[in-house]
Amino acid sequence: MKGRLTVTSPIEQVPKRLFIAGQWAEAASGATMPVEDPATGQVLCHVADAGPDDGRRAEEAAVAAQGEWARTAPRARSEILRRAYEIIIARTDELALLMTSEMGKSLAEARAEVAYAAEFFRWFSEEAVRIEGAYGTLPDGRNRMLLSRRPVGPCLLITPWNFPLAMGTRKIGPAIAAGCTMVLKPAPQTPLSSLALADILREAGLPDGVLNVVTTSRAGEVVEPLLRGGRIRKLSFTGSTQVGRTLLAQCADTVVRPSMELGGNAPFIVFDDADLDVAVDGAMVAKMRNMGEACTAANRFFVHSSVAGEFAARLADRMGSLVVGPGTEPGVDVGPLIDRAGRAKVAELVADAVERGAKVLVGGEIPDGPGCFYPPTVLTGVDPGSRLMSTEIFGPVAAVLTFDDEDEVVRAANDTEWGLVGYVFTRDLSRGLRVGERLEVGMVGLNTGLVSNPAAPFGGVKQSGLGREGGRVGIEEFLEYKYLAVPV
Ligand code: NAP
Repeated sequence: MKGRLTVTSPIEQVPKRLFIAGQWAEAASGATMPVEDPATGQVLCHVADAGPDDGRRAEEAAVAAQGEWARTAPRARSEILRRAYEIIIARTDELALLMTSEMGKSLAEARAEVAYAAEFFRWFSEEAVRIEGAYGTLPDGRNRMLLSRRPVGPCLLITPWNFPLAMGTRKIGPAIAAGCTMVLKPAPQTPLSSLALADILREAGLPDGVLNVVTTSRAGEVVEPLLRGGRIRKLSFTGSTQVGRTLLAQCADTVVRPSMELGGNAPFIVFDDADLDVAVDGAMVAKMRNMGEACTAANRFFVHSSVAGEFAARLADRMGSLVVGPGTEPGVDVGPLIDRAGRAKVAELVADAVERGAKVLVGGEIPDGPGCFYPPTVLTGVDPGSRLMSTEIFGPVAAVLTFDDEDEVVRAANDTEWGLVGYVFTRDLSRGLRVGERLEVGMVGLNTGLVSNPAAPFGGVKQSGLGREGGRVGIEEFLEYKYLAVPV
């Protein structure tokens, strides 16, 4: 009889070493680092902990593989991605369990992330064979222009812990499709999903050296020499705005091309004519996807004063009925936050809002016991000066404020240095489009709480980032133009 999946089985199967030039290798120093289960605080396993020498070895492997990889037939690159997509889908349950174990999200959410992550490989397998060039006559009538697209070269990819698989595939997919080699540095809290992904790509036929994975607890020491070394040609970073700024400065030295997916502070606007069923459903997704640990998470709820009471009561009812517990347990909706520091930050933001007069409709108390749990929480009467208005909450806390007119709410929504996503709920399409256009963000959900889709360009304006991932433009970040002038 087939055994029931256990928490340890997929973890045992994942290689725990660095992946360099197609080989699994210990860190040169022999160091390892623990991976913890945020639901229990227990150590699940140890993985190799790379130092700067390991980073350089990974870079060398990527540099050495670049020439031949760039010459590979686009169809061959496409088929590797397609095979990897099929393998990921076939292994949904074990990858989901692996992700839940190291990151905490419920198994249902982890399965949804596996599907989302795999889709980037399918999407970019289709884009790999559609990289186009051009031939044309220049205005003088004599010279011809031959325009082709070339891979930018060896890339450094840095990912956060909140979507351990999808943030990897969203970068690796277009890099493979474009013909770039790469070094991936995943977040130290969630290295296992990236190691599993490397193993899947190896199985799918990715040549040695094209993808190298360096797990480390010493990100700065490993990454900085690579960015300043002159051989890495592109950085694709997803993480906080603060770290993004540091890395942008490092990129400047050797003019490394950056793309940055940074933090957000999403406004969620509910007008008086909104369908409240739709708005509350949207709020549950925009707030509770990934326990609120998403750059796209609704951070500030602006609700028209005529419907704010009803909206908040209905949201509190739905939030309060969610089951909190270890993500691996059946029926659990809300897993633990990533670590104690993350939970302490959420608790401090709530305490600050309450001190400034906010009322707690539901949640707000850290439960006793192990694990980094925080209950779904709804606050009303939030003072606009509260710290959570200008800080990513990154937890399951909905802060509700009221407004009375459209100009006022657009001004308040735009009053932030971030501009990743905004959500607008109204039955009036003209108003929806008008407000959507006026919001200073890269993405808008109109009567929906979910914008992420591999076929759409994901990214922000202002200090939420540079460039886009996914969609037709996702591959552009990994391609250069090359122009040949030919007099005829
Ligand atoms: P983070 O602290 O910025 O870390 C992100 C990654 O950068 C991790 O792998 C981290 O490794 C690494 N890192 C940190 N300092 C570094 C340095 N000096 N040099 C090189 N690498 C360094 O962010 P996080 O807490 O993991 O993730 C949450 C943030 O990501 C939130 O702000 C969220 O909004 C953002 N995010 C954005 C998107 C988007 O698409 N816009 C998507 C998901 C998440 P270490 O932890 O070892 O330092």
